[in-house]
Amino acid sequence: MQIKSYSSRRFIFIFLLLLITQFSISCNVALPTTGKNTKDKTTTDKTTKDKDKKDDDSSKTLGDKQLQVHMLDIGQGDSLLIITPEKKSILIDAGLVKAAPKVIGALEKNGIETIDLVVASHPHADHIGGLPKVLDAVPAKKFLDSGQEHPTATYEKLLTKVKEKIGKLTVARAGQKFELDSGIKIEVLGPSEPLLEKVSGSVENANSVILMLSYGEFRMLFTGDSEDETEERLLEKGFNLKAQVLKVAHHGSQYASSKDFLKKVDPEVAIISCGEDNNYGHPSPPTLEKFKNDKIKVYRTDLQGEIVVLSDGKNYQIKTEHKATSDIWEGRTSSKSKKNDS
Ligand SMILES: [Zn+2]
Repeated sequence: MQIKSYSSRRFIFIFLLLLITQFSISCNVALPTTGKNTKDKTTTDKTTKDKDKKDDDSSKTLGDKQLQVHMLDIGQGDSLLIITPEKKSILIDAGLVKAAPKVIGALEKNGIETIDLVVASHPHADHIGGLPKVLDAVPAKKFLDSGQEHPTATYEKLLTKVKEKIGKLTVARAGQKFELDSGIKIEVLGPSEPLLEKVSGSVENANSVILMLSYGEFRMLFTGDSEDETEERLLEKGFNLKAQVLKVAHHGSQYASSKDFLKKVDPEVAIISCGEDNNYGHPSPPTLEKFKNDKIKVYRTDLQGEIVVLSDGKNYQIKTEHKATSDIWEGRTSSKSKKNDS
């Protein structure tokens, strides 16, 4: 009896041990899936957590067919990636040479294997510097350029790359229309002939490619590095400039975003791309003041990281990578002359 009782206790012990081991093995076997789920969960949790910290304007829910405009956080310069509901892509500028990896990363992250349209707003290094490397990494179908004389090594390099990779260059002129996606319209509003010659700032800036993107009731205006004279020309031409979202000209410089121009565009939101370490005075305090007085909501890459505009053709939302690191309405002062204004 003693022995039997001992052996049955031993049997129970072994049985329990086996059960525990089995359970533990089961857990281990299940780990890869559990691990993935855990990872996904962490990402989701993180997203939810980060979301609390973001400056999101998600008051309106959007339908499925969404247009995305990503203003990438590439430091001083511009780079905007547009993805249409039919997954067509448009890349406007690619920042300085050093910004190329970030732009390529954004294309990969968004699953873009071919860029349908690449736009070089104007031939300055903080807009086209990264483009040759981007064209090396990702094939592109069409290239739209401001078509200005600008004999710099950076621009020459880009033109050579476009010839090699795409073959053809399209010169942007007001009146052209592009329809890459059945629901999306892209209209060229500038530059127009004759190109602006006498400007107080930079001629290359003044003849930037100006685009109006529309999707249903939603409109967004892309201004490159426009100057006051560019805006005067746009007003003279009598274009419909009305847009809910304005890509602020020239990184928020004080030499653009005139009162008359803002009145005509009448934006609800203004998005600014500039570097947190820039000494060009971007964005400028007087420009920010104008937006503030007009009750235009401002978003800045230098303070909030990447800015994403989403629209379903009716409503729109703005999302930022993170919460503003300091006061949105506080501009920067310049240590450069107007001639050196990038
Ligand atoms: Zn610029």
